[in-house]
Amino acid sequence: MAAKIIDGKAFAATVREQVAAHVARLKDEHGITPGLAVVLVGEDPASQVYVRNKGKQTVECGMQSFEHKLDASVSEAELLALVEKLNADPAVHGILVQLPLPDHMNSDAVINAIDPAKDVDGFHISNVGLLGTGQKSMVPCTPLGCLMMLRDQLGSLSGLDAVVIGRSNIVGKPMAQLLLGESCTVTIAHSRTKDLPEVVRRADIVVAAVGRPEMVPGDWIKPGATVIDVGINRIPAPEKGEGKTRLVGDCAYESCAEVAGAITPVPGGVGPMTIACLLANTVTACCRANGLAEPE
Ligand code: NDP
Repeated sequence: MAAKIIDGKAFAATVREQVAAHVARLKDEHGITPGLAVVLVGEDPASQVYVRNKGKQTVECGMQSFEHKLDASVSEAELLALVEKLNADPAVHGILVQLPLPDHMNSDAVINAIDPAKDVDGFHISNVGLLGTGQKSMVPCTPLGCLMMLRDQLGSLSGLDAVVIGRSNIVGKPMAQLLLGESCTVTIAHSRTKDLPEVVRRADIVVAAVGRPEMVPGDWIKPGATVIDVGINRIPAPEKGEGKTRLVGDCAYESCAEVAGAITPVPGGVGPMTIACLLANTVTACCRANGLAEPE
């Protein structure tokens, strides 16, 4: 195996330490405790795990965590009323509504009801527009974590060829905007892309955000490229016992690692960085709300 393994778990721990240090300063010097409100609607098991982890890590960093669990049958109007209440609450600096929402709700309407200054997920249309025009915004956590790892690995990204596989609003598109902001030459690939292997082979940076287990094989990767695997896919693992499963990314890890210069593992790569960036965004939102210097 040739590639350097990018340890997202360790990197995320460092980011959380920086967040905790900033939180301590906000408390000591200004008497302010950043607060993050997370809203969960329904019983989706994966979402429940994410929300629990977010709440735990928020408290571990010294911040206040406000968890709101609503029944799946709650009306959109009731959810919007809660969002309004959180918008008006000065103890809440960040608001996250866990997606996906139940089918009877309009996710766009709910997300766009969040005060953009408290939109720590960066999904509000104002933040999307600010990011797209290169202005100061709240940056979506998963792409932000990917960018931090890329910068740490490569230093300047200027002039590099980057391919983002996937064009979702939460990962692919903001990732492409961030890479463009770093002066990469960016290609966004998706399910209709012609000759995806050839497109990927040109790339110095590959970000895979597809949701298809091990779709990208090593022979698509340019030797020495940096591979960021966003995918989280649960597949059967009969070798661990009957009915057991394991997590894999969108890249075939073993074969990609033989060719790449560096690669993120799944689990332990992008995933931990996402929550760390959420905590960092909450501190940023708190500093902006109080007119204080933001963390670097
Ligand atoms: P979406 O399903 O919203 O988007 C998937 C994208 O992949 C679409 O743009 C789709 O193209 C594209 N795609 C699907 N099939 C192919 C194909 N055969 N070839 C090329 N492109 C294809 O997914 P998300 O962006 O929400 O998530 C992607 C993955 O990242 C998932 O595994 C998810 O679990 C994971 N994830 C991980 C996070 C983390 O913290 N690590 C956070 C968020 C997501 P088209 O638009 O044409 O349909």
